[in-house]
Amino acid sequence: MEKKYCTAVVLAGGSGKRMGTKVHKQYLMLKGYPVLYYSLKAFQDSAWIDEIVLVSGAGEEEYCQKEIVEKYSFSKVHKIVAGGAERYNSVWNGLQQITEKDGFVYIHDGARPFVDEPMLERVYADVCKYEACVVGMPVKDTIKIADTDGFIKETPKRSLVWQIQTPQVFSASLICYAYEELGRREKELLDRGIQITDDAMVVEEICGRKVRLTEGSYENMKLTTPEDLEIAETFLRRKNR
Ligand code: C5P
Repeated sequence: MEKKYCTAVVLAGGSGKRMGTKVHKQYLMLKGYPVLYYSLKAFQDSAWIDEIVLVSGAGEEEYCQKEIVEKYSFSKVHKIVAGGAERYNSVWNGLQQITEKDGFVYIHDGARPFVDEPMLERVYADVCKYEACVVGMPVKDTIKIADTDGFIKETPKRSLVWQIQTPQVFSASLICYAYEELGRREKELLDRGIQITDDAMVVEEICGRKVRLTEGSYENMKLTTPEDLEIAETFLRRKNR
């Protein structure tokens, strides 16, 4: 079967307030390179990815072009576009720039530096079969659902609870349709108390589609708070050994 055209939409917008630094977390230096470098490098070198759309913070497009894309020769980046207020706004801005609507789209958090080639291959195999898949890992801790007063309401069966990561991968036509509809129905979903925090949710809520879980890795963390940087440095030290 012929390989389908794959576009990576890499997200580097948002304010990253929880990191508590002046510099946005995706540009913080990690072992000599900006955090964002690592995921772009994985997509640049991947046999599965043909094109990259980079979504930067608003007003940071030129910085990304000069200091990231040109500096590290990421030739697959065909467009840099400004993100929006919420992650899903940034995704939609990125989706509007993809050139091949017959292929697959890998949506990835630029704040996850440890995406790797075997993972990109696993999701490719799954998206060919299921049209929608997201990487994640079974949780290690027991997870509780709380009520709004801070008491435990439920304990879901641990073996069925996964922590969800990125990339989240879809056929381009499906994810573009889902996000276009989201634009029309955003208010209705917000009124129903639905907070859109990932792409799988958009496909589930809007299209009522099943989304396949693909094995990610426990290293595929999102850098959110300062201690995450220290953990990431430890991972990199081990990789370079
Ligand atoms: O804020 P959070 O850690 O959930 O962000 C996940 C990813 O989405 C990050 O890579 C961040 O740069 C991106 N993002 C974005 N636009 C936003 C919010 C987050 O591109 N408005």
